[in-house]
Amino acid sequence: MKNPTSLLVLFTILTILPCLAQAQNNPASAKLRIEESKAANGEQRIALWLMPRQVLDATVTITGVLENMHSSPSLPCTFDITEQRYPSAKTINLVTCQRTSADAGCHYDWKYTWQFGARGGRPDNTVYSLPFQKGTSHVIAQGYGGTVSHYAGTDKAYAIDFSMPEGTTVRAARGGQVIASKADSNSGGMDLAQFKYAANYVMVRHSDGTYGSYEHLKHNGVLVRLGQMVSAGDAIGLSGNTGVSTGPHLHFEVFVPVDGSRAKTLPVRFQTATGVQERLLQGSIYTN
Ligand SMILES: [Zn+2]
Repeated sequence: MKNPTSLLVLFTILTILPCLAQAQNNPASAKLRIEESKAANGEQRIALWLMPRQVLDATVTITGVLENMHSSPSLPCTFDITEQRYPSAKTINLVTCQRTSADAGCHYDWKYTWQFGARGGRPDNTVYSLPFQKGTSHVIAQGYGGTVSHYAGTDKAYAIDFSMPEGTTVRAARGGQVIASKADSNSGGMDLAQFKYAANYVMVRHSDGTYGSYEHLKHNGVLVRLGQMVSAGDAIGLSGNTGVSTGPHLHFEVFVPVDGSRAKTLPVRFQTATGVQERLLQGSIYTN
């Protein structure tokens, strides 16, 4: 982008069209978008548009290359977008770039990434509920460090896949507030490129600042609304097979964002009918 005359560069975040997001790490999904603009007088501002709001909490990282320009704050920079920080503002200035010397042309190039959830979570010792009906049982299709997609040593190492038929009621493993959901997808399969953004999901913010993500829900299989408070055991969705998936199951993970490009999963304990389990084992069956 060439910008030889303006003193300031404006980056604008806009929330726009609904629902092209994937469950995680969606760099340019339609739920949250950053754009730039500039004022007619050459002075430009950074604005974050929050209404209508489709994601309550997000972590945004902006990176860029500046020539004969400087920015405030300096790049790269990461922002935690939450209702608490930005309760009612419709626009929020994020980054302002200003020409350093009037004697030379200036150039800038920038991009952004974002994750669901804000940083700062500190996992407590809460015992989670199994995310399905009391008295029912499900097999762990993939546990911590699983060799299909939850590889040890990766950000997904502590995700869990519960095998369950499509349409099974999914229940909150822990209480909190719904910060995002998607229900409009009707497709799924093994092809990463084709189904990368096709998973339906519900995401819940917990009281310790971590987030629970319930993924692969069926078409129209979201039973909660944005901002709703839920308690452990509440029905929040219907399981399915949307997104990148080898068969009907519920992917559940507790995560915290690292920056706009990464989120890491966290190990949690579960209450089962036979006591608290520190770790759910792949291939084992557990009763709620
Ligand atoms: Zn999974």
